Amino acid sequence: MAQALPPWKMAWMDADAELWKSWQDSWPDQKAGHGCPLCAFLTTEDPRWGLRVFEGRHLNGYLWRPGAIAGYCVAIWKHHHVAEPTELDDDAAAGYWLEVLRLGRALETVYQPAKMNYQTLGNAVPHLHTHLIPRPWRDPAPHGPLPWTYLDDGLRTDEVLDAAAQRLRAAI
Ligand SMILES: [Zn+2]
Repeated sequence: MAQALPPWKMAWMDADAELWKSWQDSWPDQKAGHGCPLCAFLTTEDPRWGLRVFEGRHLNGYLWRPGAIAGYCVAIWKHHHVAEPTELDDDAAAGYWLEVLRLGRALETVYQPAKMNYQTLGNAVPHLHTHLIPRPWRDPAPHGPLPWTYLDDGLRTDEVLDAAAQRLRAAI
């Protein structure tokens, strides 16, 4: 007897499935930058969320306080609000990605990860940013995407964050 398909698989097979949901009505406004929390973060740099370890020409890199993965950083485009990297001209786009890689190289040096992950999503906060995740050799989901909860749950202490920030700044 054939096994019942899990709900996500049925949704994948039928674009009209009830399980598929609409993006929020306010999404176009959010993408345009209305009430953007990352534009606000760049001007206030609330240390409850992370410490700046890199100040580039195109982005600032932050060692993020939440999450369970040592070295987890977020690189945030630092100029006018942009939702998609395709909104940047060639020079700005190249500059953004080169600075993402500069931060990535520092993470490789300090953490020597099993694999670096770069996630440019923006599905919740549509301001151009990239999550840099040094995947540890003992990992919650080796060889697959890291479940988001490991980037959201938990907060590093000042002591842990400060020590890691010092090592990263020295490696950049
Ligand atoms: Zn923004």
